[in-house]
Amino acid sequence: MMRLPKFAYLVPRTLGDAVRMMGDAGPSGQFVAGGTDLYPNMKRRQQTPRTIISVGRIPELHRIEGDGKEGLRIGAGVSLTEIVEHPIINRDYPFVARAARTISTPTLRNMGTVGGNLLLDTRCNYYDQNYEWRKGINFCLKKDGDVCWVAPGSEKCWAVQSADLVPLMVAIGARLRLVSTVGDRTVEARGFYNDDGIDYLHKRPDELLAEIQLPPANGWRAVYKKLRRRGAFDFPVLGVAARLDLDADGSVKDARIVLGGIAPAPMEVEAAALALVGNPLDGERMRAAAEACYLKARPLDNTDHLMNYRKQMARPFVLRALQELAEGRRQ
Ligand SMILES: Cc1cc2nc3c(=O)[nH]c(=O)nc-3n(C[C@H](O)[C@H](O)[C@H](O)COP(=O)(O)OP(=O)(O)OC[C@H]3O[C@@H](n4cnc5c(N)ncnc54)[C@H](O)[C@@H]3O)c2cc1C
Ligand code: SF4
Repeated sequence: MMRLPKFAYLVPRTLGDAVRMMGDAGPSGQFVAGGTDLYPNMKRRQQTPRTIISVGRIPELHRIEGDGKEGLRIGAGVSLTEIVEHPIINRDYPFVARAARTISTPTLRNMGTVGGNLLLDTRCNYYDQNYEWRKGINFCLKKDGDVCWVAPGSEKCWAVQSADLVPLMVAIGARLRLVSTVGDRTVEARGFYNDDGIDYLHKRPDELLAEIQLPPANGWRAVYKKLRRRGAFDFPVLGVAARLDLDADGSVKDARIVLGGIAPAPMEVEAAALALVGNPLDGERMRAAAEACYLKARPLDNTDHLMNYRKQMARPFVLRALQELAEGRRQ
Protein backbone atom coordinates (compact mmCIF):
# COMPACT_ATOMS: atom_id res chain seq x y z
CA MET A 1 0.00 0.00 0.00
CA MET A 2 1.27 3.47 -0.84
CA ARG A 3 1.36 5.83 2.13
CA LEU A 4 1.43 9.59 2.27
CA PRO A 5 4.70 11.03 3.57
CA LYS A 6 4.57 13.15 6.74
CA PHE A 7 3.60 16.80 6.27
CA ALA A 8 2.24 19.75 8.22
CA TYR A 9 -1.40 20.56 7.36
CA LEU A 10 -2.68 24.13 7.68
CA VAL A 11 -6.27 25.28 7.27
CA PRO A 12 -6.56 29.06 6.78
CA ARG A 13 -10.00 30.71 6.86
CA THR A 14 -9.16 33.76 4.76
CA LEU A 15 -7.30 34.41 1.52
CA GLY A 16 -4.89 36.72 3.36
CA ASP A 17 -3.99 33.99 5.89
CA ALA A 18 -3.57 31.42 3.11
CA VAL A 19 -1.03 33.46 1.16
CA ARG A 20 0.79 34.50 4.35
CA MET A 21 1.11 30.84 5.37
CA MET A 22 2.47 30.06 1.93
CA GLY A 23 4.96 32.91 2.27
CA ASP A 24 6.12 31.44 5.59
CA ALA A 25 6.32 27.88 4.22
CA GLY A 26 8.50 28.95 1.26
CA PRO A 27 9.40 26.46 -1.49
CA SER A 28 8.36 23.43 0.60
CA GLY A 29 4.75 24.66 0.80
CA GLN A 30 1.92 23.72 -1.57
CA PHE A 31 -1.78 24.53 -1.73
CA VAL A 32 -4.32 21.73 -1.80
CA ALA A 33 -8.01 21.89 -2.71
CA GLY A 34 -9.78 18.52 -3.17
CA GLY A 35 -6.47 16.66 -3.14
CA THR A 36 -7.63 14.22 -5.83
CA ASP A 37 -4.45 14.83 -7.80
CA LEU A 38 -1.99 16.12 -5.22
CA TYR A 39 -2.40 13.31 -2.67
CA PRO A 40 -1.91 10.43 -5.16
CA ASN A 41 1.12 12.32 -6.50
CA MET A 42 2.51 12.60 -2.98
CA LYS A 43 1.96 8.90 -2.37
CA ARG A 44 4.01 8.22 -5.50
CA ARG A 45 6.62 10.77 -4.33
CA GLN A 46 6.14 12.79 -7.53
CA GLN A 47 5.49 15.82 -5.37
CA THR A 48 6.97 16.14 -1.90
CA PRO A 49 5.73 19.29 -0.13
CA ARG A 50 6.37 19.44 3.61
CA THR A 51 3.64 21.98 4.35
CA ILE A 52 0.19 21.62 2.82
CA ILE A 53 -2.11 24.64 2.93
CA SER A 54 -5.73 23.71 2.35
CA VAL A 55 -7.89 26.22 0.46
CA GLY A 56 -11.06 24.30 1.34
CA ARG A 57 -12.30 26.48 4.23
CA ILE A 58 -12.00 29.89 2.60
CA PRO A 59 -15.58 31.12 1.97
CA GLU A 60 -14.52 33.48 -0.87
CA LEU A 61 -13.31 30.51 -2.92
CA HIS A 62 -16.72 28.81 -2.81
CA ARG A 63 -18.81 31.57 -4.38
CA ILE A 64 -20.44 31.63 -7.80
CA GLU A 65 -21.52 35.18 -8.71
CA GLY A 66 -22.93 36.90 -11.80
CA ASP A 67 -24.57 35.41 -14.85
CA GLY A 68 -24.34 35.18 -18.63
CA LYS A 69 -25.23 38.87 -19.04
CA GLU A 70 -22.49 40.38 -16.91
CA GLY A 71 -20.10 37.41 -16.88
CA LEU A 72 -19.67 34.75 -14.21
CA ARG A 73 -17.13 34.63 -11.39
CA ILE A 74 -16.45 31.13 -10.04
CA GLY A 75 -14.40 30.65 -6.87
CA ALA A 76 -11.48 28.28 -7.43
CA GLY A 77 -12.66 26.05 -4.57
CA VAL A 78 -16.04 25.30 -6.16
CA SER A 79 -16.35 21.54 -6.64
CA LEU A 80 -16.79 19.96 -10.05
CA THR A 81 -20.14 18.56 -8.89
CA GLU A 82 -21.36 22.09 -8.13
CA ILE A 83 -20.23 23.16 -11.62
CA VAL A 84 -22.13 20.23 -13.15
CA GLU A 85 -25.32 21.02 -11.21
CA HIS A 86 -25.34 24.82 -10.93
CA PRO A 87 -28.51 26.29 -12.50
CA ILE A 88 -26.89 29.47 -13.90
CA ILE A 89 -23.95 27.57 -15.35
CA ASN A 90 -26.38 25.10 -16.94
CA ARG A 91 -28.51 27.93 -18.33
CA ASP A 92 -25.83 30.37 -19.54
CA TYR A 93 -22.66 28.24 -19.91
CA PRO A 94 -23.99 24.68 -20.46
CA PHE A 95 -20.77 23.65 -22.24
CA VAL A 96 -18.85 24.25 -18.97
CA ALA A 97 -21.23 21.99 -17.02
CA ARG A 98 -21.02 19.32 -19.75
CA ALA A 99 -17.21 19.41 -19.86
CA ALA A 100 -17.01 19.15 -16.06
CA ARG A 101 -19.33 16.13 -16.20
CA THR A 102 -16.74 14.26 -18.31
CA ILE A 103 -14.14 14.52 -15.53
CA SER A 104 -13.33 11.31 -13.64
CA THR A 105 -16.20 9.95 -11.48
CA PRO A 106 -19.03 11.39 -9.33
CA THR A 107 -17.10 10.72 -6.11
CA LEU A 108 -13.98 12.44 -7.39
CA ARG A 109 -16.06 15.32 -8.73
CA ASN A 110 -17.48 15.83 -5.23
CA MET A 111 -13.94 16.41 -3.94
CA GLY A 112 -12.16 17.81 -7.01
CA THR A 113 -12.39 21.55 -7.64
CA VAL A 114 -12.40 23.76 -10.70
CA GLY A 115 -9.19 25.45 -9.48
CA GLY A 116 -7.39 22.14 -8.98
CA ASN A 117 -8.46 21.12 -12.45
CA LEU A 118 -7.07 24.25 -14.08
CA LEU A 119 -3.73 23.79 -12.28
CA LEU A 120 -3.52 20.01 -12.71
CA ASP A 121 -0.05 18.49 -13.05
CA THR A 122 0.88 17.27 -16.54
CA ARG A 123 0.74 13.51 -17.09
CA CYS A 124 2.95 10.85 -18.69
CA ASN A 125 3.08 7.04 -18.66
CA TYR A 126 6.68 7.20 -17.41
CA TYR A 127 5.84 9.61 -14.58
CA ASP A 128 2.43 8.57 -13.22
CA GLN A 129 3.87 5.45 -11.60
CA ASN A 130 4.87 4.59 -8.06
CA TYR A 131 8.32 5.39 -6.71
CA GLU A 132 9.74 1.88 -7.20
CA TRP A 133 8.53 1.73 -10.81
CA ARG A 134 10.12 5.10 -11.58
CA LYS A 135 13.29 4.09 -9.74
CA GLY A 136 13.40 0.97 -11.93
CA ILE A 137 13.86 3.15 -15.03
CA ASN A 138 16.21 5.54 -13.21
CA PHE A 139 13.44 8.16 -13.04
CA CYS A 140 13.06 10.85 -15.73
CA LEU A 141 13.60 14.55 -16.32
CA LYS A 142 10.31 15.59 -14.73
CA LYS A 143 11.31 14.21 -11.32
CA ASP A 144 14.60 12.85 -9.96
CA GLY A 145 16.14 11.80 -13.32
CA ASP A 146 18.02 13.29 -16.22
CA VAL A 147 16.55 11.71 -19.33
CA CYS A 148 13.18 11.90 -21.04
CA TRP A 149 12.07 8.36 -21.93
CA VAL A 150 9.56 9.65 -24.46
CA ALA A 151 12.07 11.72 -26.42
CA PRO A 152 15.52 10.67 -25.11
CA GLY A 153 17.38 13.39 -27.01
CA SER A 154 15.10 16.10 -25.68
CA GLU A 155 15.96 18.59 -22.98
CA LYS A 156 12.28 19.30 -22.54
CA CYS A 157 9.60 17.25 -20.77
CA TRP A 158 6.63 16.35 -22.99
CA ALA A 159 4.19 15.33 -20.22
CA VAL A 160 0.68 16.07 -21.35
CA GLN A 161 -1.80 18.76 -20.31
CA SER A 162 -4.65 16.48 -19.23
CA ALA A 163 -7.30 18.60 -17.50
CA ASP A 164 -10.62 18.76 -19.33
CA LEU A 165 -11.56 22.32 -18.40
CA VAL A 166 -8.27 23.81 -19.59
CA PRO A 167 -8.79 23.86 -23.39
CA LEU A 168 -12.37 25.03 -22.87
CA MET A 169 -11.36 27.96 -20.62
CA VAL A 170 -8.71 28.99 -23.15
CA ALA A 171 -11.22 28.76 -26.01
CA ILE A 172 -13.92 30.83 -24.31
CA GLY A 173 -11.55 33.55 -23.10
CA ALA A 174 -11.75 32.94 -19.34
CA ARG A 175 -9.57 34.98 -16.99
CA LEU A 176 -7.88 33.81 -13.80
CA ARG A 177 -7.37 35.87 -10.64
CA LEU A 178 -4.17 35.03 -8.77
CA VAL A 179 -3.40 36.26 -5.26
CA SER A 180 -0.16 36.31 -3.29
CA THR A 181 1.50 38.38 -0.57
CA VAL A 182 2.89 40.52 -3.39
CA GLY A 183 -0.63 41.41 -4.64
CA ASP A 184 -3.40 40.46 -7.06
CA ARG A 185 -3.19 39.90 -10.79
CA THR A 186 -5.72 38.71 -13.34
CA VAL A 187 -4.49 36.93 -16.45
CA GLU A 188 -5.99 35.40 -19.57
CA ALA A 189 -6.26 31.59 -19.45
CA ARG A 190 -5.03 31.79 -23.05
CA GLY A 191 -1.46 32.78 -22.10
CA PHE A 192 -1.34 31.00 -18.75
CA TYR A 193 -0.12 27.57 -19.89
CA ASN A 194 3.50 26.90 -20.84
CA ASP A 195 4.51 24.27 -23.38
CA ASP A 196 6.83 22.43 -20.98
CA GLY A 197 5.72 19.39 -18.99
CA ILE A 198 7.73 20.46 -15.92
CA ASP A 199 7.23 24.22 -15.88
CA TYR A 200 3.70 24.05 -17.25
CA LEU A 201 2.14 27.20 -15.77
CA HIS A 202 3.03 30.87 -16.01
CA LYS A 203 2.43 31.11 -12.29
CA ARG A 204 4.68 31.43 -9.24
CA PRO A 205 4.30 28.58 -6.71
CA ASP A 206 3.25 31.06 -4.00
CA GLU A 207 0.30 32.37 -6.03
CA LEU A 208 -3.14 31.14 -5.07
CA LEU A 209 -5.78 30.83 -7.78
CA ALA A 210 -8.78 32.65 -6.32
CA GLU A 211 -11.31 33.00 -9.10
CA ILE A 212 -12.16 32.03 -12.66
CA GLN A 213 -13.93 34.76 -14.63
CA LEU A 214 -16.09 33.75 -17.59
CA PRO A 215 -16.88 36.46 -20.18
CA PRO A 216 -20.50 37.49 -20.80
CA ALA A 217 -22.25 34.83 -22.89
CA ASN A 218 -23.48 37.32 -25.46
CA GLY A 219 -24.26 35.28 -28.53
CA TRP A 220 -21.20 33.07 -28.94
CA ARG A 221 -21.41 29.35 -28.40
CA ALA A 222 -18.90 26.73 -27.35
CA VAL A 223 -18.45 22.99 -27.04
CA TYR A 224 -15.96 20.46 -25.65
CA LYS A 225 -15.34 16.96 -27.00
CA LYS A 226 -13.21 14.37 -25.23
CA LEU A 227 -11.46 11.22 -26.49
CA ARG A 228 -10.80 8.54 -23.86
CA ARG A 229 -10.83 4.75 -23.77
CA ARG A 230 -13.83 4.34 -21.45
CA GLY A 231 -16.99 6.39 -21.14
CA ALA A 232 -16.00 7.41 -17.60
CA PHE A 233 -13.05 7.54 -15.25
CA ASP A 234 -10.42 8.30 -17.90
CA PHE A 235 -8.29 11.36 -18.54
CA PRO A 236 -8.57 12.92 -22.00
CA VAL A 237 -6.03 11.73 -24.57
CA LEU A 238 -7.44 14.30 -26.97
CA GLY A 239 -9.76 17.17 -26.08
CA VAL A 240 -11.31 19.59 -28.55
CA ALA A 241 -12.75 22.91 -27.38
CA ALA A 242 -14.34 25.24 -29.93
CA ARG A 243 -15.89 28.66 -29.58
CA LEU A 244 -17.70 30.43 -32.43
CA ASP A 245 -19.22 33.89 -32.85
CA LEU A 246 -21.68 33.96 -35.74
CA ASP A 247 -23.05 36.91 -37.69
CA ALA A 248 -26.80 37.29 -38.21
CA ASP A 249 -26.38 35.87 -41.74
CA GLY A 250 -24.77 32.72 -40.32
CA SER A 251 -21.18 33.49 -41.32
CA VAL A 252 -18.43 33.03 -38.76
CA LYS A 253 -17.32 36.33 -37.18
CA ASP A 254 -14.76 34.88 -34.80
CA ALA A 255 -13.52 31.39 -33.93
CA ARG A 256 -11.14 29.72 -31.54
CA ILE A 257 -10.29 26.02 -31.62
CA VAL A 258 -8.07 24.58 -28.90
CA LEU A 259 -6.74 21.03 -28.62
CA GLY A 260 -5.96 19.48 -25.23
CA GLY A 261 -4.45 16.16 -24.17
CA ILE A 262 -1.77 16.06 -26.88
CA ALA A 263 1.03 18.39 -25.71
CA PRO A 264 2.32 19.95 -22.48
CA ALA A 265 0.04 22.98 -23.05
CA PRO A 266 -3.35 23.47 -24.69
CA MET A 267 -2.78 24.09 -28.39
CA GLU A 268 -4.72 26.80 -30.20
CA VAL A 269 -4.97 26.10 -33.94
CA GLU A 270 -5.02 29.48 -35.68
CA ALA A 271 -5.19 27.89 -39.13
CA ALA A 272 -8.49 26.26 -38.15
CA ALA A 273 -9.94 29.63 -37.09
CA LEU A 274 -8.70 31.18 -40.34
CA ALA A 275 -10.48 28.48 -42.34
CA LEU A 276 -13.77 29.47 -40.69
CA VAL A 277 -13.74 33.24 -40.14
CA GLY A 278 -15.59 35.30 -42.75
CA ASN A 279 -17.25 32.23 -44.25
CA PRO A 280 -20.54 30.41 -43.80
CA LEU A 281 -20.35 27.49 -41.37
CA ASP A 282 -20.72 24.86 -44.07
CA GLY A 283 -19.33 21.35 -44.50
CA GLU A 284 -16.41 22.45 -46.64
CA ARG A 285 -15.20 25.04 -44.13
CA MET A 286 -15.68 22.68 -41.20
CA ARG A 287 -13.64 19.98 -42.96
CA ALA A 288 -10.89 22.52 -43.69
CA ALA A 289 -10.76 23.48 -40.00
CA ALA A 290 -10.67 19.80 -38.98
CA GLU A 291 -7.82 19.18 -41.44
CA ALA A 292 -5.85 22.11 -40.00
CA CYS A 293 -6.19 20.58 -36.52
CA TYR A 294 -5.15 17.16 -37.79
CA LEU A 295 -2.01 18.66 -39.35
CA LYS A 296 -1.08 20.58 -36.18
CA ALA A 297 -1.72 17.74 -33.70
CA ARG A 298 1.49 15.85 -32.96
CA PRO A 299 0.82 13.73 -29.85
CA LEU A 300 3.70 11.67 -28.48
CA ASP A 301 3.65 8.10 -27.22
CA ASN A 302 3.16 8.84 -23.50
CA THR A 303 -0.53 8.37 -22.73
CA ASP A 304 -3.21 5.80 -23.39
CA HIS A 305 -3.95 4.95 -27.07
CA LEU A 306 -1.49 4.96 -29.97
CA MET A 307 -0.21 8.42 -30.82
CA ASN A 308 -1.13 8.03 -34.48
CA TYR A 309 -4.69 7.11 -33.52
CA ARG A 310 -4.93 10.23 -31.32
CA LYS A 311 -3.71 12.34 -34.24
CA GLN A 312 -6.17 10.70 -36.63
CA MET A 313 -9.02 11.33 -34.20
CA ALA A 314 -8.41 15.10 -34.27
CA ARG A 315 -10.26 15.27 -37.63
CA PRO A 316 -13.58 13.64 -36.61
CA PHE A 317 -13.56 15.22 -33.15
CA VAL A 318 -13.14 18.75 -34.52
CA LEU A 319 -15.73 18.06 -37.19
CA ARG A 320 -18.20 16.76 -34.59
CA ALA A 321 -17.59 19.78 -32.38
CA LEU A 322 -18.26 22.21 -35.25
CA GLN A 323 -21.29 20.26 -36.46
CA GLU A 324 -22.73 20.42 -32.98
CA LEU A 325 -22.24 24.18 -32.89
CA ALA A 326 -23.81 24.57 -36.35
CA GLU A 327 -26.82 22.48 -35.33
CA GLY A 328 -27.18 24.42 -32.08
CA ARG A 329 -27.52 27.60 -34.10
CA ARG A 330 -30.46 26.20 -36.08
CA GLN A 331 -32.36 25.05 -32.94
C1 LIG B 1 -8.92 8.28 -10.99
C2 LIG B 1 -8.85 9.72 -11.40
C3 LIG B 1 -9.42 10.11 -12.59
C4 LIG B 1 -9.33 11.45 -13.01
N1 LIG B 1 -9.90 11.80 -14.20
C5 LIG B 1 -9.81 13.07 -14.63
C6 LIG B 1 -10.35 13.44 -15.88
O1 LIG B 1 -10.97 12.65 -16.59
N2 LIG B 1 -10.20 14.72 -16.30
C7 LIG B 1 -9.55 15.66 -15.54
O2 LIG B 1 -9.45 16.81 -15.98
N3 LIG B 1 -9.02 15.33 -14.34
C8 LIG B 1 -9.14 14.08 -13.86
N4 LIG B 1 -8.62 13.73 -12.64
C9 LIG B 1 -7.81 14.70 -11.89
C10 LIG B 1 -8.52 15.48 -10.77
O3 LIG B 1 -9.41 14.67 -10.05
C11 LIG B 1 -9.29 16.68 -11.28
O4 LIG B 1 -8.53 17.37 -12.26
C12 LIG B 1 -9.66 17.65 -10.15
O5 LIG B 1 -10.40 18.73 -10.68
C13 LIG B 1 -8.46 18.22 -9.42
O6 LIG B 1 -8.96 19.12 -8.43
P1 LIG B 1 -8.51 19.02 -6.90
O7 LIG B 1 -9.23 20.11 -6.19
O8 LIG B 1 -8.68 17.67 -6.35
O9 LIG B 1 -6.96 19.37 -7.07
P2 LIG B 1 -5.79 19.13 -6.00
O10 LIG B 1 -5.31 17.74 -6.11
O11 LIG B 1 -6.17 19.65 -4.67
O12 LIG B 1 -4.70 20.14 -6.61
C14 LIG B 1 -4.20 20.00 -7.91
C15 LIG B 1 -3.08 21.01 -8.11
O13 LIG B 1 -3.58 22.34 -8.03
C16 LIG B 1 -2.98 23.07 -6.94
N5 LIG B 1 -4.07 23.88 -6.39
C17 LIG B 1 -5.34 23.47 -6.14
N6 LIG B 1 -6.13 24.53 -5.82
C18 LIG B 1 -5.32 25.62 -5.86
C19 LIG B 1 -5.53 27.02 -5.67
N7 LIG B 1 -6.75 27.50 -5.39
N8 LIG B 1 -4.49 27.87 -5.83
C20 LIG B 1 -3.26 27.39 -6.12
N9 LIG B 1 -2.99 26.08 -6.32
C21 LIG B 1 -4.01 25.22 -6.20
C22 LIG B 1 -2.40 22.03 -6.01
O14 LIG B 1 -1.28 22.54 -5.32
C23 LIG B 1 -2.00 20.94 -7.01
O15 LIG B 1 -0.79 21.29 -7.62
C24 LIG B 1 -8.72 12.40 -12.18
C25 LIG B 1 -8.15 12.00 -10.95
C26 LIG B 1 -8.22 10.68 -10.57
C27 LIG B 1 -7.63 10.27 -9.25
S1 SF4 C 1 7.74 13.37 -21.11
FE1 SF4 C 1 9.78 12.57 -20.62
S2 SF4 C 1 10.56 13.86 -18.93
FE2 SF4 C 1 8.36 14.23 -19.14
S3 SF4 C 1 7.40 12.87 -17.66
FE3 SF4 C 1 7.45 11.76 -19.60
S4 SF4 C 1 9.39 10.61 -19.63
FE4 SF4 C 1 9.50 12.12 -17.99
